Amino acid sequence: MKRLLTFMIGLALCGSLTLAATNATAQNFVVIGGGSTTGVYYQVALNICKIINDKLGGKGYNCIGRPALGSTFNIRSIQRGLLNYGVAQSDWVWKAANGKDKLWAGKPDKGLRTVFTVHPEVVMLVTRKDTGIKTIADLKGKRVNIGNPGSGQRGNAEDVLRLSGIDKDKDIKAEGLQQNEANRALVDKKIDAFFYTIGVPWGGGLEIANSTAINVIPVDSAPIRKLVADNPFYAMATIPGGTYKGVDKDVATYGVKATFVTGEKEPADSVYTVVKTIFENLDTLRNSYANFKNLQPKDMLQGLSAPLHPGAMKYYKEKGWQ
Ligand code: GLU
Repeated sequence: MKRLLTFMIGLALCGSLTLAATNATAQNFVVIGGGSTTGVYYQVALNICKIINDKLGGKGYNCIGRPALGSTFNIRSIQRGLLNYGVAQSDWVWKAANGKDKLWAGKPDKGLRTVFTVHPEVVMLVTRKDTGIKTIADLKGKRVNIGNPGSGQRGNAEDVLRLSGIDKDKDIKAEGLQQNEANRALVDKKIDAFFYTIGVPWGGGLEIANSTAINVIPVDSAPIRKLVADNPFYAMATIPGGTYKGVDKDVATYGVKATFVTGEKEPADSVYTVVKTIFENLDTLRNSYANFKNLQPKDMLQGLSAPLHPGAMKYYKEKGWQ
C-alpha cells in the first residue's frame, strides 16, 4: 500500500513537472541569479521578477529570482545557459568580457552583455571589536572569510590582501564561506573578520551590528588608490559613519557597481520588453528595497563594463538615453 502510494505521488509529481516544463517552453521563462539570501543581489532578482510577473505575467512571462553564489557564478551560469540574467560586479563583468584574472585568463566571455547598472557596492572588511583588529595588517594570524568561490568579494579580498602584503595562504587562515554562514560565524566567534562587497546600507550588516559589537576596517592605502586609479570600474568610496551601530566614523574604502547582465543569446525582443517594463515601473523597484531608492536611469546606464545587449539598446535609443 505504502509503495503504491509512493508510486502514485511520484506519478502525480511527474505529471505536474511535465506540465510545468510544457508551460515553461510555451511561456517566456526568465530565471535571474542573485546572491546569498543575506545580500542585495537576491533582492534585485526577487524584485525585478515581481515586476515582470505582475506586469508581463498575462503575456506569458514567468520569472524566478533565485539565490545564487554571486558575481562570477552568475556570469558563468549565463554563459552555460543556466540563467537568463544575473547580477554581477562591474569589475568581474569587465574581467570576464576581456579575458582577465585567473578565472577568465585568455578565455574572454564574448557573449556577455550588460543591461543596466543597479546600486553601488563597497568592499567591506568587518570584524568584531573584541578581536582587536584595527587595520588590514592586524589580520595576520586571524581567521578571515574571503568569500565563497563564485562570489565577487573573493577576488576583491585577494586583491586587498595581496596589495597589503598579506599572503592569504600563509599569513591568515582563509575561509570560503557563503555570506549567510559568514554572518553567523562572525557573531559566534568562529571567524575573526570577513570581506564582503555589498551595497550600503546592508541589511545583514545592520543585524550583525545589533547582535555583537563590530568594527568596519578602512580599505585605503597607496596601493589600493593605484588599483582604483588604474581601473575605470573601481571608485574610492565611503561608508558613512552611523550606518552600522557602533561604527560612528566614516570608513574609507573602494567599490564597484552591481550590474544586471545577460547573454547574447537572449532574444532582443524579450530583453527589450523586460527592460521597458522595468524602466516604466522604476518607482516600484525604487520602493521595493532601501538600496534601490536612488536609482536614476542616467546612472543606470553608467559604468557598463561589457557591451550592451541590443534589446536594451533599442529601448534606450527610443528614450533618447543613448
Ligand atoms: N557583490 C557580491 C558578489 O558579487 C554579492 C553581494 C550581494 O549579494 O548583494 O558576489
